[in-house]
Amino acid sequence: MKKVDGEFIKGRIAPCGLHCGKCFAFADGDISYHSGELKKALGNFDVYAQRFVEMLDEPVFAKYPDFKEFLNHLSVATCQGCRKEKCKLFKNCNVRVCSEEKQVDYCFQCSCFPCENTGFDEHLYKRFVAINKRMQEIGIEKYYEEVRDLPRY
Ligand code: SF4
Ligand code: SF4
Repeated sequence: MKKVDGEFIKGRIAPCGLHCGKCFAFADGDISYHSGELKKALGNFDVYAQRFVEMLDEPVFAKYPDFKEFLNHLSVATCQGCRKEKCKLFKNCNVRVCSEEKQVDYCFQCSCFPCENTGFDEHLYKRFVAINKRMQEIGIEKYYEEVRDLPRY
């Protein structure tokens, strides 16, 4: 089991506070891991999915090829997290570079927080402010415990 310390948490919680560990694109994330496990558990289900359409009279099994393609996609996630590479999702994000310049691990530690420099849209900005206020209130370790098992979406 991996040791959960400040460095581990930094590998999962981005400077903006979003939880990379629960992102579908994160290589070491739950979504990628469980998708790979489900893929293994399904084995050679392709053949059976075709049969089950008629045997069970359940047309939903005809959708298996699309499901499999999506599952494959999720299982080969490659992102190393916000601190190691540019975010694939939020292309206009200024936070990572800015937090490096300001020499803070998380935005709530910055004297400018909450700032207008994130590059986020309104929805994401609201989340950014709420998350950082919570981290400020309870500290990063407790915050991580709070979100560790919660879905991000
Ligand atoms: S950096 Fe962006 S794409 Fe990568 S895991 Fe974090 S949120 Fe997802
Ligand atoms: S200026 Fe804004 S984006 Fe940059 S580190 Fe401070 S709070 Fe984060």
